Amino acid sequence: MSQTRTVVVTGGNRGIGLATAKRFAELGHRVAITARDPGHIDDQILAVSCDQTDSNAVDAAFEEIESNLGAVEILVANAGITRDQLMLRMSDDDFSAVIETNLTGSYRMARRAARPMLRARWGRLIFVSSVVGLLGSAGQVNYSASKAGLIGMARSMARELGSRNITANVLSPGPVETEMFAALTEEQQATITEQVPLNRVAQPEEIAETITFLASDSAAYITGAVIPIDGGLGMGH
Ligand code: NDP
Repeated sequence: MSQTRTVVVTGGNRGIGLATAKRFAELGHRVAITARDPGHIDDQILAVSCDQTDSNAVDAAFEEIESNLGAVEILVANAGITRDQLMLRMSDDDFSAVIETNLTGSYRMARRAARPMLRARWGRLIFVSSVVGLLGSAGQVNYSASKAGLIGMARSMARELGSRNITANVLSPGPVETEMFAALTEEQQATITEQVPLNRVAQPEEIAETITFLASDSAAYITGAVIPIDGGLGMGH
């Protein structure tokens, strides 16, 4: 097994984030999750309240995590929201709220996480984007812009931080069976699933496996990558 590390998973109280946090805990790592309203997960996982649209809340969350688990070595920037609407009907608020949470919020978390990683000369930044960041999606100009933004951001971080042995990578999942997917109508779910060559949606645990691999020593030479886990939906994009 790779060395035991301190891990933070944003948006870790349900869905992909929760599956990821549990997998890291099973592998023996020290794990914290953040969410606006995290609740209690289990005794193995530190649940920290943090609205990542607020820089002060991000600083406070890191202080709480550091004092309980030590310096953060692995960040999984997974928290995200949707506010779907066709472009001509989308309000400024719908656009900016999604960018603020998904892109700027992930940036805030990564900027704060990078400081101790630089000192330790080891770190993993893992961003959960989406297949629609590269393919686009009608009704999701805000969401797809935020997810495409994560790619440029992670690649810039990979260049800035690589010489200090910090990698920055992006996952690009297709449809995953979580509350976010369940919020779509049955018709929307069926339309998306039909387009997936493997003809099914993913389970959150399937995304968690790739995230823990990227965090491991086996992935030490992977940085700036965008890794699709989408049943073939994006055909490598
Ligand atoms: P869920 O809707 O199940 O969970 C979203 C998580 O984000 C929750 O833990 C939520 O916690 C947290 N969150 C939302 N806003 C904030 C905020 N301002 N500050 C901190 N945490 C916040 O999503 P999924 O598990 O489905 O998705 C996880 C990630 O994967 C997202 O980034 C999503 O875009 C991406 N993704 C999902 C796909 C899918 O089909 N499900 C497909 C491709 C990508 P709380 O509400 O308590 O704050």
